[in-house]
Amino acid sequence: MSAAAGRHRAAWERARARYPASGHLPLPRWATRGYAETPAAAWDALRSDAGRSRGPLSIYVHLPFCATRCPFCDCHATRVPRDGGDIVERYLAVLAHEVVSWASIRGLAERPVTTVHFGGGTPLALGTDAFGGVACALRDALGTHEGTEWALETTSRTLDADALDALDRLGFTRIHVGVQSLDPDQRRLLGRREPPATVIERIRACRERGWVVSADLLYGLPGQTSATLAGDIEQLAGAGIQGVSLYHLNAGPHNAPFVRRHGLDARGEARLAADFSLMAEAAETLRALGFGRNHVTHFALPADENRYARHALRGEDLLALGSSADGVIGDRFYRHVEVDAYAAAPSGVAATDVPPPLEGAGVFTPAERRARPLVTRLMSAEVDRAGLDARSVAFSEGLVADGLLEPVAAGWRLTDAGAWFAGAITAEAWELHATTTR
Ligand code: SF4
Repeated sequence: MSAAAGRHRAAWERARARYPASGHLPLPRWATRGYAETPAAAWDALRSDAGRSRGPLSIYVHLPFCATRCPFCDCHATRVPRDGGDIVERYLAVLAHEVVSWASIRGLAERPVTTVHFGGGTPLALGTDAFGGVACALRDALGTHEGTEWALETTSRTLDADALDALDRLGFTRIHVGVQSLDPDQRRLLGRREPPATVIERIRACRERGWVVSADLLYGLPGQTSATLAGDIEQLAGAGIQGVSLYHLNAGPHNAPFVRRHGLDARGEARLAADFSLMAEAAETLRALGFGRNHVTHFALPADENRYARHALRGEDLLALGSSADGVIGDRFYRHVEVDAYAAAPSGVAATDVPPPLEGAGVFTPAERRARPLVTRLMSAEVDRAGLDARSVAFSEGLVADGLLEPVAAGWRLTDAGAWFAGAITAEAWELHATTTR
């Protein structure tokens, strides 16, 4: 065993003594305790709260459509119908209605927007005209300004020269590319059609426009090695990439056949430990190239602020629009219905008569409000000690003892083991203040 492998093994065993092996990403509050508010009550409350603050906010827009459905993907994504079905048109009509509904809230349109982040799905699968229509509607209705970042998640397949021109005209400044792997065998397995050289060429073309460019890479793929993963990272860095998100290939409801076909559902602990090692070695490669972790899954050079994922660290609300999108306004978290129900919702009626299709909402309890500063910092991988209460500080020091945080000048930083077990750590952090009466 190499020295690095020995180090990763020791970190795994130390953290494993505290948490179950199957690391998972932190869950939003609704996922663990549901909603107290019905959709109608949620909208009334959101309408009364959203315009009260004058502070900046971040916007997330979910466009869940893709040209094809990738076999490994566990996202909320729907294939654009080839049979003339009108789900896309209906979805866009409801989304347009939702933009108007939010913009009709007194004071909301005056709040400065830090980022408008489009995710999915592959938003460009709608075509640049339809996609541009959504971006322009948001620009006209809400408080975007010269400093607003316009960010898009997409695949390299959509990034041809015409799409780049359209994104340039719309003012986009950050592109996050779902690369997943640059290894030809792995790409075949994942159903990715562009040769690695085309992916790199398209990333370079985005960088030449002066945009911040980041990429997703998957780890835990069948047959993947730390050498192939390191090779992918080095090629991306050579193309000028400024951010890399490392995602574990997890089994979920949308990718079950792929996971079964490749025997990934039979993962014993040895396999999880090996996947942890893959991630830790990739993280070391990234750090050696100057990248630092600025979110549970994301590594970045200073140019990549990762604004959407770090909105809570800046104390901003997240105004989320579109199916299954999760938002937070003040102390209230809310979620939309899934794509079919979203597209079936009423549209084209007076904005104040019909609320956006929400699934429900909830309000952070006093204990959760006390836990939020710590949870937010853990999610952002940087736990600044300033302003944390004594219980959060003691909890963080306990994480250091288990190798999940490491000390830095301002407080602590999430280690690779901390990132793997972030879901379990944040679940504990949420409960931390439950017995506090103040
Ligand atoms: S991986 Fe990306 S392109 Fe493929 S189905 Fe999922 S969201 Fe769509």
